[in-house]
Amino acid sequence: MPTRDEAVAASTGAYHTPGHLLTLIRNGTVRTRREIQDFTGLSRATVAQRIEQLLRGGYLDETATAASTGGRPAVLLRFNERHGYILAADLGATRGRFALLDLAGRVLAEQACDLTIGSGPQLVLDCCERIFAELLDQAAVSRDVVCGVGLGVPGPVEHEAGLVRQPPIMPGWDGFPIADHLTQRWQVPVLVDNDANLMALGEHNAHYPGSPATLLVKVSTGIGAGVVINGRVYRGIDGGAGDIGHVRLHGHDDARCMCGAFGCLAAVASGGAIAAAMTRAGVPTDGSRGLVAHLNAGQPDAVRLTRIAGQLLGEVLATVVCLLNPQAVVIAGDLADTHFVAGVREELYRRALPRATRHLTVTTSRLREQAGLHGAHAMVMDHVYSAAAVDTRLGAVAA
Ligand SMILES: [Zn+2]
Repeated sequence: MPTRDEAVAASTGAYHTPGHLLTLIRNGTVRTRREIQDFTGLSRATVAQRIEQLLRGGYLDETATAASTGGRPAVLLRFNERHGYILAADLGATRGRFALLDLAGRVLAEQACDLTIGSGPQLVLDCCERIFAELLDQAAVSRDVVCGVGLGVPGPVEHEAGLVRQPPIMPGWDGFPIADHLTQRWQVPVLVDNDANLMALGEHNAHYPGSPATLLVKVSTGIGAGVVINGRVYRGIDGGAGDIGHVRLHGHDDARCMCGAFGCLAAVASGGAIAAAMTRAGVPTDGSRGLVAHLNAGQPDAVRLTRIAGQLLGEVLATVVCLLNPQAVVIAGDLADTHFVAGVREELYRRALPRATRHLTVTTSRLREQAGLHGAHAMVMDHVYSAAAVDTRLGAVAA
């Protein structure tokens, strides 16, 4: 299956441009000038000229040499992983996590803090900027070499426009130009996506790269899912793909959801909903994290209600799994390492066809709280280091 770059290159006839050669080097297809000639059929002179452009642009390192098979040892071409730096933020309902990463995805500096997404875009984005500046200081990286910013938010995102639409738990953010706002300050591409989408992408790339479909469900204050199909986030026509938290369940008509409807999955099975049910039953529980504290202490009501909530998610996921036949269903968020997952498995395997679950892994996030940051990094890399983007920048320099 060709990558998007390759598909674009083939459709425009712009094959084997410098940007495309960089893609081939980055993904390990070729390592030397000779291998590029063999792979692309380009002449030695053309390869030399395109590699020179990439070297001058700082995209490549050529320090190491490949083992010689007689004659001169070949110079190894490597992507310069310090060509730029990426700032990533993963904003949840009540917490934010921030990182500065190099292009290989190594975390150079990281911070987490409590925040209230409902306090609106100005306050929250000011907080992001302050922390980004601190991360750069901490790692002694200048803001001039930041090449892109990736942001995950807990709501439905219009990815191309870089804003959220009618987010149930983000009052004040509807239509706010998040990407434009940050682009003005940083003067680099800013990309925004839903938090669960980015976590799904991060987890997929790190642990299920060959999986045709990977599904990640984040269960914390609310419930959201991200779907990665053939290595790309699947967003649907309105950015609504994966929004399973607001599927309405039978028999829960009295449960009011944050979206205003009644009986949503998130209104009965999220960490926030279970905590509210515990509090109503006389066991004060402070949100999703308060629930986890009860679970860690073995509080019997918490264990029972959490398991039932997991079963409700499992019931909804049975349909999803039969539709997508994914390799992995990854549970992330506050409830990932609790009795919730056992409940999910019970109901999912009971209801889904054996054919859809034979090779299925139902597991918890291995990147844990860094999943969204790595997804944001991958999103920015895809954009800033795509063949087309690299060619455009090289063209601008040449002109
Ligand atoms: Zn709802």
